[in-house]
Formats: sequence, structure tokens, C-alpha cells
Amino acid sequence: MVEIKTPEQIARMRAAGLVVAEIHRACAAAAVPGATTKDLDEIAAQVLADHGAKPNFLGYGGFPATICTSVNEVVVHGIPDRVTVLKSGDIISIDAGAIVDGWHGDAALTVLVGEGHPPEVAELSRVTEESLWAGIAAMRRGNRLVDISRAIEGHIRRQPLPPSGRYGIIESYGGHGIGSEMHMDPHLLNYVDRRRGRGPKLVPGMCLAIEPMVSLGTAKTHVLADEWTVKTNDGTWSAHWEHSVALTEEGPLVLTAPDGGRERLARLGVTAAPDPLA
Ligand code: MG
Repeated sequence: MVEIKTPEQIARMRAAGLVVAEIHRACAAAAVPGATTKDLDEIAAQVLADHGAKPNFLGYGGFPATICTSVNEVVVHGIPDRVTVLKSGDIISIDAGAIVDGWHGDAALTVLVGEGHPPEVAELSRVTEESLWAGIAAMRRGNRLVDISRAIEGHIRRQPLPPSGRYGIIESYGGHGIGSEMHMDPHLLNYVDRRRGRGPKLVPGMCLAIEPMVSLGTAKTHVLADEWTVKTNDGTWSAHWEHSVALTEEGPLVLTAPDGGRERLARLGVTAAPDPLA
């Protein structure tokens, strides 16, 4: 049910992950006031072409673009276009993927566009990113899937509340297994649902895309008439951070982080696995 990868297969997923990291670097640098979301999509397509990698979002269930660009109250799955012009004070989640030799990478980051963000918006992105790393740090042998969910939720719940009075951990979307396909078993909730049990044991060879999505209000979302764009029901802004992570015999390797997660995991007392391509 859960695909277990060999070290050689994880090395190929690392190659895909590094292409995703390069897309993020290029798109984040271009996410400035005046840019359109289509500009970012074209940059992503060029990075894929430059690396001989294939897109995994384009055509997925009919998705019409290379990346998802989700601005402000859009949570995920925003479609890049030429009419959405970024302005100072916006936030944008850039969700990107790549296929190399048949193996997938998938990651997202939230960029604060320009300046002038209210403190709670910057804090929302910071808390969401930190919750991702808390989840990654829980991806270790002997733990269960639910331990990752608990680490993500626990980190968010320990934060001081924003002026809105709550953080909404988005309920209808979550992380997933990844490997020979982009979306595989198991589904990973970003909170603990006791009705679901503890989930599978985490063993070397498992690869997960971990992706908390958090709003400044509700946990509830709806899909627009374009059948893709997901917005919060109350219009509050949301942040989204994601990495693809492999559990190896030597610990977690963050496939879509340039340094394999070494620096961020060290801050949490976790040693990242050595990079098989370094
Ligand atoms: Mg994903």
C-alpha cells in the first residue's frame, strides 16, 4: 500500500527535489510587485526544461499550468494567469513539482510580496513554515503517521493567537505519499483526528510530502467555479509550506531543500541524512 523506496530510488527523488528547489528559488525571486502569476508559471516551465525535467502538475486531473499560485485568501490550487498582478503586501503560495526519471518531487513555499504586511500575516507564514519543520522532525523510525500530524498541530496550537483569535488548520487538504506518482498513500492530516487511528509505522524508504496550510480564521474552504481554486470560507488569508521528505536508514532527508534540511533540522536537534547526490 505504501510504496517503499530503495536508496537508489531516493537518490533519483533527490534529483527531482533539487529541480523543485531551483523552481522555488527562481519564482520566489520573481514574485515582486507588478509580476503576474503567469510570469511565475513561465519561469517554472523554463527551469524544468533547462533541467530536462517534466512537469507533474500540468495536465494532472486537467490542471492547466506548471505550478499553483495561491494569493492571499486562496489556500491552494490557484491557477496562474495574466490578470493576477502581485502587489506589495500580498502573500503568495508557490506550489511546484518536477519529474526526473519517473520520480516525483513536490514542494510549496509562501512568499511575502514587497513590503507592508501586517505583523500577523508575516507571523502566519512563519508559524506555518515552522509547523512544517516540526512535522519533518517527527518523521523518524518508530513513529507513526499520526506523530507527524500531532507535531504540526501541536506547534501551531502552542503559538500566541493572532488578533483574529485563531489559526485555522485547513481540514480538507493535507500531505501525501510521493514517489513513482505525485499523490500516493498515505494521506497525511495536519491535525490529529482520533477516528482515523495512528496510521502506518514510519520505516526507511517511506517518502511523504508534508504540507501544512493555515489560515487566520476558519479551517473550512470551498472550491471556485474554475474547479481548482480553493479559498477560505471566511476570506481570511492563508499560508502554505511543503517539502517532500524521505525517511532513510540515517534519518530524514528533505528532498526539496537545497541542503537536504540539514540546517533547519539541526535547530530542532535532528540530524538530516547525508545527501546521496552530494
Ligand atoms: Mg503536495
